[in-house]
This record gives sequence, structure tokens and C-alpha cells, in this order.
Amino acid sequence: MCKTTDIDTKRILIVGAGPAGLLAAILFLRRNLLTSSTKYQVTLIDPGTDYGKLDEEGLARARSWMIGLSCHGLSSIREVPGLYEDYIRGLGVDTVKAVIGITKKIKFTLKASDFIPEDSAFTVDRNYICAALSRYLNDNFEKDGNFISHYNTKALYVDGDNKCVIARPKNESNVNITDMNLDYDILLGCDGIRSIVRNAFLSTHRDFEFDLRGSFGYGKSVHVALPEDVEDGTFMIINECLPGWVSFVLPESGQKLNVALGTRLDKECCVELKSSDPKVVADYFREHWHAFDIDCDEVGEQWVQQGWNTVGQVHCNFYHSEPLRALLLGDAAHATCPNIGQGMNTALADASALNSLLNDHKDDWDVVLPKFSELRVKEGNALTDLSFHTYSLSPGQQITLMVRQNVRIALNKLLPWIVDRDPMYEIPRGMKLSEAYHRMSKLGVIQRVRRNNDDMMRSHFEKSVGMVRDDESAGIMNKMFRYVMVPVFVACAVAVLFGDKISQQ
Ligand SMILES: Cc1cc2nc3c(=O)[nH]c(=O)nc-3n(C[C@H](O)[C@H](O)[C@H](O)COP(=O)(O)OP(=O)(O)OC[C@H]3O[C@@H](n4cnc5c(N)ncnc54)[C@H](O)[C@@H]3O)c2cc1C
Repeated sequence: MCKTTDIDTKRILIVGAGPAGLLAAILFLRRNLLTSSTKYQVTLIDPGTDYGKLDEEGLARARSWMIGLSCHGLSSIREVPGLYEDYIRGLGVDTVKAVIGITKKIKFTLKASDFIPEDSAFTVDRNYICAALSRYLNDNFEKDGNFISHYNTKALYVDGDNKCVIARPKNESNVNITDMNLDYDILLGCDGIRSIVRNAFLSTHRDFEFDLRGSFGYGKSVHVALPEDVEDGTFMIINECLPGWVSFVLPESGQKLNVALGTRLDKECCVELKSSDPKVVADYFREHWHAFDIDCDEVGEQWVQQGWNTVGQVHCNFYHSEPLRALLLGDAAHATCPNIGQGMNTALADASALNSLLNDHKDDWDVVLPKFSELRVKEGNALTDLSFHTYSLSPGQQITLMVRQNVRIALNKLLPWIVDRDPMYEIPRGMKLSEAYHRMSKLGVIQRVRRNNDDMMRSHFEKSVGMVRDDESAGIMNKMFRYVMVPVFVACAVAVLFGDKISQQ
């Protein structure tokens, strides 16, 4: 007699079709091909467009920002046979070198092979990655009956008691559209920095702690033609690219560069860069931009057509909820500023880590939910803090950090058995973020920079909301007290206590 096996069907609802949500969807659907005891039915919702359905021109119009994809992200993608080879390779530009401009005059260059193994880092547009993942999903699973995608649909609210999400399709034709109730067994919050799934954690768990704060900067990003004297595949960080501004320059496909420029929140932007006249902006760039040849008129046009960008950071103390049967992945759990270029890499690694846990624990979700937090909370928090607390907001401290880092790199080359490689350069090669965080803490970098950055952010906040005033007369009185009254008081105390002895001598 034939023995029948019970098949457990799990409805997985993935909120957010960014890199984390799309890779998670692929990995669940692939599990159906490999495991027999659990069948996954995957529903994906996102308020945006399905980039996988756009043609080349449409996708080029939907360009967003360039992202450095390195070991953590690539190894997660490579777990799916054919995904990298057939859908992703060739979409981006291989990184060949990095140019670090410490000041306007002092620059140094690193070969890519100094900090990344061959064939393991390239830059690619965020939406191109989404398009590639979505194409893989559509090609392989659109017709298999276990996958439904609802694009142009926004999740509004998680009803944890009934295990359902209320979602609203975009109303483009002004006809009456009713909200959808999407039931689930397991919910994945892959919905980015302003996650609504995370909101449900907040209202369900009294012990859930999370914070969302800015990264104390604002800026704009432009796409420019690759100058003749810049090799394709060059990544650059340029301090003082404009007075008071720093620039991250990433190679872009099609012989272009994606130039992101940012400055500190407490710095008043000059009138020229606030102007809505492209000529004024172009003239300002002509006068001040020094990094490489740039078409200033083109930059001026792009500059005035966009608003200011800001990036935020998120910390959470756990990423799973047993009562909600939910997990947080990617930016929903650990959004961060792009300083170390690991946000998407970690989002992809979250999806891959979840898949490994399901393998290890035979799809037993009661075990997998808490294990996910155990495994990923340290990585996510290390990501957010390494990104923000290894770059100082104080230019002086930042220059010191960069000089020290380069001395360490040079010493490691000379005396590798005495001086370890710089932990930050080990991350793109695959070092765990929590390990890099541990080593940077041991070097004292995290603590020093955190003190400085937190102080600067706090005092800016206090001043900007009026808790502390720049009160000149109070300032003079304080200085008088510190520099005149205190020494006078100390001198009097010394005279009273030791006056007799001094006069007897
Ligand atoms: C300028 C810049 C440069 C960066 N550079 C790098 C880099 O070099 N390397 C790197 O690894 N990372 C980089 N990052 C970070 C990277 O872009 C993110 O970490 C990554 O996109 C996170 O993926 P995600 O899927 O978690 O979230 P997201 O990419 O934010 O995707 C979230 C998705 O959820 C959807 N969504 C939101 N709300 C809802 C809702 N209510 N209902 C349904 N869906 C919803 C959104 O439409 C979106 O598609 C950079 C980021 C920026 C801004």
C-alpha cells in the first residue's frame, strides 16, 4: 500500500517588492521544487511598478541610484542556480578601483583587488536588480499557481488578530475600488524604511523597541557622462567636492557616473545651490567643482528638477513576532545611510538566511521565527551602526580616521602577521558585519565617532527646536565665570588655606 504524506500549505504574504521581498519570494517558490512536506503559496504586494515587465527604455527611465553589490548580496543571489548568470551578470559595472579624496589636494587610489576578490563587486542600479529578480520570478513561477503579485497595491494595515493585511490598489481611473483583505499564515515585512508591518510590531509587543532617525545630512544625486580621464569602474569618495560638501561617485552602466552629493544638516546651504535656476547652479559648479570634468549645465538642469534627498536609519531589538507570525527583513528592519554600501547586500542576505533556517529546521516556523532574530539582529544593528559610526560628522575627526585607516592598510601590507587587515575592507570580501563591528569597537573607532556624531546631532536638535539658545550675553557670562571667576576663586581658596605657611616661609 502506498503511504500518503501530509502536505502543510503555508500562505506567505510578502509586503514590499524591493530586493529583500523579491529574493525571498524566489527562495520560497524554489522550496516547493525541493521540499515535499511544506508547500508555499506566495503573494507579493507593492505600490510600485513591476520593473520586470518594463522594456529596456522603460527601465532606463525608471533609474534610481547605483548600488555596490558585493559578497553578502552576491553570495545570496548565487544560491539560486542561473539567477546571477542569466539575469544579473552584465547589468552593472565592475569596480576596478577606488579613489579617496581626503582633502581637495590629498587623494589616494586603491586597486579593487586590494579590498575585494575578483568578480565579486560591481555597481548596479537598485531598480535594475529589482527588474532582474522580478523577471526571474515571472519567467519561472508566473504560471505555476503558487505565486500571485499585486503591483500598484499598497498595504495599509496589518490585522494581526485575523492574520490578514488590508491593502488598497491604486485608483488610476477613478472607478470605485475596494480594499483587499489578504489572509496569510506567515507575513514578511520587506516594505522598507517606513514599514507598516513594523508598525504592527509596535502595537502588538510592549517590549518592541525601534528607532527611526535621519542620518544628519541632505543632498542630491546627478547622472553625468564618464569623463575621459576617469576609468570606467572607478568608485570615488571626495571630501570638499564643493565647499562643505562630500560626494560619493559610483560607476553607472552606459559609460556614466552617478554622483551623489551631500552636506550636513546643520550647515546652511548656499543660495546658489538652493536656486531653482539651472544657470545659477551650473555657474556655482563651474566655480567650485574640482574633482573631474563635468558638464555643469547638465548638472544644473538635473539639480533643479529634484527635491532634497535624505536617508534614515532604523534599529530594532527583534525582527520576529510570534503572535503576528511575522518577520522583518531588509530596510524595514535595518535601514541605514549608504556610507559603507551594504544596505541591499544585507537585505538580500536576510532572505538567504531565512531560507537556510528553513532548511536547517525543516520548515518548522515555531523554531525559525525566533531563530531569525537570533541570527540577524546583530547583523542588522551592526550594519546600521557601522554605516553611521565609522564616518565622522566632524571633518577634523574624519580626516584623522582616514589617515589612521590608511596607515593600518599600509602596515598590514608590510607586516601582515602583526597588523590585521582593516575590518571595513573585509566586509565586501564577506566578513560578517557583527564581526567587523566587534573589531571596529576594539579599535575604539565606533565609540569615538558615536560620541562625536551623537553630540553634534543632539546639539543641533536642541538649538533647532529652541531648547538651547545661542544667547550671546549668557555665553559671555559663562566665559567670564569659567575664565575669570573660577581662577579667582581657586586663588582665594589657596590663599586662605595655605596663606600662613607661604608668609612664614
Ligand atoms: C543613495 C543610496 C545609495 C545606496 N547605496 C547602496 C550600496 O552601495 N550598497 C548597498 O548594499 N545598499 C545601498 N543602498 C541601500 C539599498 O538601496 C537598500 O538597503 C535596499 O534597497 C533595501 O532593500 P529592501 O528590499 O529592504 O527595501 P526597499 O528597497 O526600500 O524596498 C521596499 C519596497 O517596499 C515597498 N513598500 C513600501 N511601503 C509599502 C506598503 N505600504 N505596501 C507595500 N509595499 C510597500 C516599496 O515600494 C519598495 O518597493 C543605498 C541606498 C540609497 C538611498
